[in-house]
Amino acid sequence: MAASVHDCRIPTKLIPKCPVCGMDMDYNLRVDGRFVQDVNWHRHNADYEKFLKECNGKRTVFLELGVGYNTPGIIKYPFWQMTAKNPQAVYVCINYGEAVCPQEIESRSVCLNADIKTVLSQLW
Ligand SMILES: [Zn+2]
Repeated sequence: MAASVHDCRIPTKLIPKCPVCGMDMDYNLRVDGRFVQDVNWHRHNADYEKFLKECNGKRTVFLELGVGYNTPGIIKYPFWQMTAKNPQAVYVCINYGEAVCPQEIESRSVCLNADIKTVLSQLW
């Protein structure tokens, strides 16, 4: 059966191959020792840190889409901490089954326990 954009499956022929070994490329996740943290990663991380400094104390929405508890220290916990430190910030979380926030920032949070696709399609 042919894959289509409607079944959310990526056709095998579109998966990029590793230029070294020819295996299918995979996500760059911190799940093992193969996470790529090269010069480009550091450059983009510096840009992100600069952006966050510029947002400090300003009206900011920390929008978290589908972040679970595999690596919460990368996005989820920093977003909670930055929301707590900035009284102008709002934390928004869309996550089917794990839409939660600490009580400390509850009054400035919107946690939607729903499918991201459904929520985003209702915005249009
Ligand atoms: Zn390889």
